[in-house]
Amino acid sequence: MKIEPGMAALVTGAGSGIGRGIALALARRGVDVGVCDIRQADAEATVALVEAAGGRAVAVQADVSVRGSVEEATDMVEANFGPISILCNNAGIAMHGVPLHEISQADWDWVIGVNVYGVIHGMNVVVPRMLASGKPAHVVNTASIGGFQVNPNFLTGAYSMTKYAVVALSEGMQNELAGTNVGVSVLAPAAVDTGIHLSERSRPDRLGGAYVRPENHFMGDLIKNSAKPEDIGERVAAAIEGDEFYIFTHPETQHWLEARHE
Ligand code: NAD
Repeated sequence: MKIEPGMAALVTGAGSGIGRGIALALARRGVDVGVCDIRQADAEATVALVEAAGGRAVAVQADVSVRGSVEEATDMVEANFGPISILCNNAGIAMHGVPLHEISQADWDWVIGVNVYGVIHGMNVVVPRMLASGKPAHVVNTASIGGFQVNPNFLTGAYSMTKYAVVALSEGMQNELAGTNVGVSVLAPAAVDTGIHLSERSRPDRLGGAYVRPENHFMGDLIKNSAKPEDIGERVAAAIEGDEFYIFTHPETQHWLEARHE
């Protein structure tokens, strides 16, 4: 799909990291961006960066794990910028370092709520509106290379489970939406230099608190010298324009897809 100036986008988890990189890349192409995040101040910080670069954006506080919250965010972006042409279901949290059989009900609800329901709600709320508009539109779901393989070293099974789900949802959407005005992509980065190891900062029952799961600290080391969010944003914008379905950002991981189909 050609990205046209004046199109509207909704990018979730755009208060930091990859979402911010996507928001900035879209804004550079003249897209008006709904910067959605559970952390209002972070969303506003991204809006300030977009505006400083000459773009237009609006901060939208929402919890993607709650359908009504996604509906309100969508309505607010459309009230500001018109029908959404680009949806990036990007908000996500890491949950590493705990054996699967020890993960609490609250932790399961949280990781599935954000990483899986977050994508489902975005899809269910926005895609019908895109189809009804009949105009070129595109959805990008952020999965991970962890959506293709469970890392044997870091107890990332729960995170990977949610990202496998995002890959499967995206493949289903691609099949079902083929031939319509709505294109689909799934983003599968490896390590990107973001604050994802601080995921607990975005947890609704701990918002404002400083609690960080100590076992997540390894992520800080893992993501040193990794890809930059700005580059991922540019890669996503190019993939939308090129109608690419799988977006691998690290060339050394491309073969994971082929491995899965062997
Ligand atoms: P990040 O923590 O910098 O950004 C995630 C953003 O999502 C944060 O601003 C956070 O406040 C927001 N968020 C969290 N829960 C939310 C909720 N319930 N509702 C709305 N917003 C919420 O991390 P990131 O690395 O930029 O992660 C973005 C996406 O990229 C995630 O889906 C993540 O799983 C994926 N990813 C990241 C990496 C990496 O190495 N950083 C690798 C592969 C995939």
